Amino acid sequence: MAGHEVAPQTGPRSLLAQLDTQPRVRAFLQRAVESGRASHAYLFVGAPGAGKLDAAWALAQALICPHGGCGACEACVRVARHTHSDVHYLAPESATGYLIGQTRDLIDEVALAPIRAAHKVYILDRADQLRANSANSLLKTLEEPPEDVTFILLGTSSDTILPTIVSRCQCVPFRMVSPVEAAAAVCRSTGLPQERCRMAVAVAGSPTRAIEFLKSAERQEARRAMLRAIDSLAHADEADVLSAAKGLIKAVKAPLADVERTQKAVLERDADYLSRGALKQLEERNKREITARERSGIMEVLASARSLLRDALIALEHAPGGVVNTDAQETVGRLVAATGTAGVLAALDAVAEAEQAVRHNVTPQLAFEVMLLDIRKALSCPS
Ligand SMILES: [Zn+2]
Repeated sequence: MAGHEVAPQTGPRSLLAQLDTQPRVRAFLQRAVESGRASHAYLFVGAPGAGKLDAAWALAQALICPHGGCGACEACVRVARHTHSDVHYLAPESATGYLIGQTRDLIDEVALAPIRAAHKVYILDRADQLRANSANSLLKTLEEPPEDVTFILLGTSSDTILPTIVSRCQCVPFRMVSPVEAAAAVCRSTGLPQERCRMAVAVAGSPTRAIEFLKSAERQEARRAMLRAIDSLAHADEADVLSAAKGLIKAVKAPLADVERTQKAVLERDADYLSRGALKQLEERNKREITARERSGIMEVLASARSLLRDALIALEHAPGGVVNTDAQETVGRLVAATGTAGVLAALDAVAEAEQAVRHNVTPQLAFEVMLLDIRKALSCPS
């Protein structure tokens, strides 16, 4: 396992300390943790890219760490790697939102004692997708969770979340963060050139995820595979497109091998003192975690495609802001030479449709194939 993942040269910093773009949220959460008066249920609200998920992992780290979030101990490293067995991340598992079975499993799980730490944290992403049927069973748990449990719900606005949920949570508003600001935070943290940080934010979505992306050779390679796939579409036949889609899936899955190894090691080590039921539950959750990570990898390469096409649009329209994918200027140049604004817009639609398809549980391979074929068609129509 690569050593650089554990501690950058500057020494480990807690995730909370890294929340540069949300200083008020950071101060608020720090006070709550230090005073020992953290709420049992938080609702983080703000626009996409505001860093709500980053903050959720940061709060989880501070609550799980025996030293209040030192950033350096084993618990902190595990939370930062999203492999701590007492921090649970949930996202809606169907196109229509959270499944009833999902919240039912969650409630069962909440009642169990923590595995490693003295505390358990549940992060519920896109809480606006907790519809009445899946949410009702959760309300009682949200109101009176066991002592050692904290819920962190994430949503874009409290207006789109069931009022019965909102009223049971402490609401924490997040300010809007522009991509430029987010990139500046990544630069400060990594010391890498501004262009690379801007690209990483465009692909990964938030500063913390951008920093992780820049540390992962495999995730960056998956992005490059997508850029190459689009670049070669002009001369690709159907078989080429299918094989490009296959290659993209392989590239997205590459970083998962490391996670699977970690999961296996944890399982083997804990096998002796966990009950059969708890082991089964852990295995189940590991599987879900791999699915969730694979999906987020897919969304990341789709974001790479969108970012590249946006660059082409900016170049075509001579719009201000400049190209984000400076390492792919030649590709952008070829796209601009081959097509016009209408073609690039149609290609961007194809990316949006692929994102939608993946959210609706279409197999990623099929979503990539359809998208690449649609982009090929879009780009071959001269404006
Ligand atoms: Zn720690």
